[in-house]
Amino acid sequence: MTEGMERVNYHTHCERCRHARGSAGEYAEEAMKAGVVKLGFSDHLPFYDDRFGLRMPYSEIEEYMEEIAALREKWKGKMDIFCGFEGEYVREDTAYYEKLLSNENCEYLLLGQHFYETAQGEFFNVYQLKETGQYEAYSANVVEGMRTGFFRYAAHPDLIFLNDFVWDIHCDRACDILIDGAVKYGFALEYNVNGFRREKKQYPDGERFPYPHEKFWERVRGTGIPVFVGSDCHDPRQVYDGKVERSYEKLRESGILPELNLLFQK
Ligand SMILES: [Zn+2]
Ligand SMILES: [Zn+2]
Repeated sequence: MTEGMERVNYHTHCERCRHARGSAGEYAEEAMKAGVVKLGFSDHLPFYDDRFGLRMPYSEIEEYMEEIAALREKWKGKMDIFCGFEGEYVREDTAYYEKLLSNENCEYLLLGQHFYETAQGEFFNVYQLKETGQYEAYSANVVEGMRTGFFRYAAHPDLIFLNDFVWDIHCDRACDILIDGAVKYGFALEYNVNGFRREKKQYPDGERFPYPHEKFWERVRGTGIPVFVGSDCHDPRQVYDGKVERSYEKLRESGILPELNLLFQK
């Protein structure tokens, strides 16, 4: 049961990313209706050269932060609103993350490795992996991001499992790398609700949601790694919907007690 529990969400998108519906203001209104007391906006992070796609153009970044700052004022006293981004960690962009976090309107970054960087500096799209042999490099790269201190939690750390492969030794190793890294750096992981909003799919080793993957979360239990539920809403009606509630229940049933308080960088 989630009754009586404080309702929070730190993983919220808006139409600026070009693949979500609704303005930031509409998400805030829906959050208020749903009884959310802490709402963090974390739209997809644009880079200064507009690489990667599926996000706001870099030219809108200031406007986005000002929009959220205005919402913070509007809802003051009723709901706490925070402004951040969900973005990839890219080795050579340290100065960019520092610059973002020094902006008074940017309070946090979530690590969302939709693209990962190999040891050789090559980038791969996590949605289009060719073999499970790539999973370990993905995990190692996520752990590099954890180590930097720029990010508050890893969004959908188990995103790789949306790829259509049979579970094998590489999957086991990828889980170990992620979990050992999170333990080592005291880094939080996200149980991502959006995976449950996708269709259940027939994978070569059975039917399941693309993520969160049970095998990954079984391993998280008992490690003491902080776990946050992230709505990852791309529609205002999803901010705190039944799937969010069900995710909290599922986590508890699996023996993991979700965290509610995110530490902000300012
Ligand atoms: Zn998105
Ligand atoms: Zn997201």
